[in-house]
Amino acid sequence: MKKLIAKQCGVVAESQVVDQNDKSKGFGNKRKKSERKPRSLAEAAARERSWVWEHFSKEDHPIIEKVDGNDVCVGHTRRAQCKYCTTHLTCNSSSNGTSALKKHLEQVCKGYPGRTEIDKGQTHLATDGKDATVVHLTQENCITDATEMIVMDELPFSFIERPDFRRFCSVAIPKFLVPSRKVIVKTFLRMYQSKKEELRKELSSHCVCLTTDTWTSVQNINYMVLTAHFIDSSCKMHKRVLNFCVISNHQGTTIGKIL
Ligand SMILES: [Zn+2]
Repeated sequence: MKKLIAKQCGVVAESQVVDQNDKSKGFGNKRKKSERKPRSLAEAAARERSWVWEHFSKEDHPIIEKVDGNDVCVGHTRRAQCKYCTTHLTCNSSSNGTSALKKHLEQVCKGYPGRTEIDKGQTHLATDGKDATVVHLTQENCITDATEMIVMDELPFSFIERPDFRRFCSVAIPKFLVPSRKVIVKTFLRMYQSKKEELRKELSSHCVCLTTDTWTSVQNINYMVLTAHFIDSSCKMHKRVLNFCVISNHQGTTIGKIL
């Protein structure tokens, strides 16, 4: 394999530097628990009218405690009983919302009649202004696409949990259950491994030319990028970024060690 290492030192590319401050933002406008307003009765009633209550009934469940070795009923707690299975969930309207009930119907309950519709997904005609393609809308596809958006636009993982984004999704794609940032991170790591494997296979069948380039950011941090170029059977040139890392200095020996 023919290797050509082109070194360009001292080039400052400020635009390439990722703004760390921007990444650390996220939940700046999250309201503290202590600042939350107490819910009025009207608000509580409105919450109870959520569509999930068509699939749950409220039942009093006894609280059993052991007194002198005997089981004694010391009170009752209100729980939401699923109409399709034996599951019952906490439903205290002041401390628990309906998200757990919704999650049970859409992700867990085997008896929920709307389940087949969720599993099957929905087919849409999507257009980017020029071409129209058929898109199969499923929960999995939506998570993959959301992860790709976060990666391509260099957004923080917490973006998925921003209230305004969630509100937008609830209007635009009501069937998409917006996941937590943990799900996005897991999907991202899976995606990284599969793309890495894809790249390894692609590069193994070509002669590649490796190029490095180094920058110094405004914060005086040295960065290096390693790029592979190759020409395919139809004489078309391709470029793939293999690594982007921080280096101690721009010297040839330091770059050589990292390679
Ligand atoms: Zn159920």
